Amino acid sequence: MPAAAHDSAVAATYDVLLVGAGPAGAACALALRGSGLRVALLDKATFPRDKICGDAVPGAALKALARLDPTYRVALSNLRPQSPARHSRLVAPGGRSLELHWQLPAFNSPRLDFDAALLKLVREHTDTVILENTALRAVAEIGAAGVRLSTSRGELRGRVVVGCDGANSLVRRHVLPGPARPQPCVGVRAYFENVAELPADTTEFYFSRDQLAGYCWVFPVGEGRCNVGLGLLTEVVSAQKIDLKKLLADWLARHPALAGRFAHAQQLGPTRGWGLPLGGAPGPAQPVAGTGWLLCGDAAALIDPLQGHGIDTAVLSGIMAAAQIRRCFEQQQFSAEFMQPYAAEINQKIGRNLRRSYRIMRLASARPWLVEAAVAVAQVPWLRRGLQRIIS
Ligand SMILES: Cc1cc2nc3c(=O)[nH]c(=O)nc-3n(C[C@H](O)[C@H](O)[C@H](O)COP(=O)(O)OP(=O)(O)OC[C@H]3O[C@@H](n4cnc5c(N)ncnc54)[C@H](O)[C@@H]3O)c2cc1C
Repeated sequence: MPAAAHDSAVAATYDVLLVGAGPAGAACALALRGSGLRVALLDKATFPRDKICGDAVPGAALKALARLDPTYRVALSNLRPQSPARHSRLVAPGGRSLELHWQLPAFNSPRLDFDAALLKLVREHTDTVILENTALRAVAEIGAAGVRLSTSRGELRGRVVVGCDGANSLVRRHVLPGPARPQPCVGVRAYFENVAELPADTTEFYFSRDQLAGYCWVFPVGEGRCNVGLGLLTEVVSAQKIDLKKLLADWLARHPALAGRFAHAQQLGPTRGWGLPLGGAPGPAQPVAGTGWLLCGDAAALIDPLQGHGIDTAVLSGIMAAAQIRRCFEQQQFSAEFMQPYAAEINQKIGRNLRRSYRIMRLASARPWLVEAAVAVAQVPWLRRGLQRIIS
């Protein structure tokens, strides 16, 4: 029998080892429900745990979870704090703005709460053995004969490992060794309260002429609070020697549409930063599967380069990985070749969109007038609908 989650040592044998209990790992565990497989989900953190993010949970993530079981969406829509995301307001560098309206239900909720709620679903609906406070230290062995993981609480064995361990994935670094590359994009985030004129159902995006490949966001997250952040391409940050935390503070103090609204706002806690492994860059895509392993979410570099969302692709890839794992155990095949349907599905259902987003992002970042022109053109309703289709 697998060791219980509260044991101090966890030496045990499972079928599936999921490393990382964020959206990718939790979705994979939920999608393995009823498979009869012995699944362990380990995370170095104890939940609830913070994750630096804009906290905008895309409708596609909720839709994919609801497809697994409609009660998951009901449970998540009852989660508090939460703020519905029905509209987006894009503010061009010149000050002109554009309102977009979203069909798919979506919301913003602090990741501290959202990720804990996802893990609660795993705990309540599956037989997954959840090992919190259990850090992967090294992949001791991986191959056709199985997987051995060395963790802070002992050794774990399995037939297949799924790297859902985020932007700095240790699983990815083991299966795809090579020189460490900086994340293509970095972001900082802070929470505020008492921001004036904060519409509860609108996410706001502000663009600047000086730092084109990126934006500042103001996302309400419920209970009168908002998540405020700034994300930029690392190449821009390095070339312009930007201190992102300082730049965010400057925006809030000086931007004509923000300064007045933040004049009496209080910041809750520090401004914190993290890397965004964007997908869609030209050239060969990062491998996402091999003999005995699969990568999902940020570990597979699946963040949308245009808008910076990755919760949806983390959930979708976790679900696709679960389908592949079921095929593996049905056929008792764990070879790299047998894993290829997973890679193909990622490429077809996620990779294509990421490549399109990457091209649009590059186009806009090289042409200062393009955001301005897009916002101006989209004042015409039917052109606005076209623009909305491109960026949704
Ligand atoms: C500044 C910023 C803003 C963003 N804004 C948004 C947004 O508004 N909407 C959106 O959809 N996306 C956003 N994203 C992207 C989003 O946060 C990620 O795409 C998403 O969290 C990926 O989920 P994941 O499960 O792959 O990884 P994560 O959520 O990072 O989860 C990985 C888990 O693995 C665990 N872990 C890591 N290493 C180990 C180890 N060695 N052993 C055990 N456990 C380990 C971690 O503790 C963590 O719980 C943003 C990202 C950033 C940086």
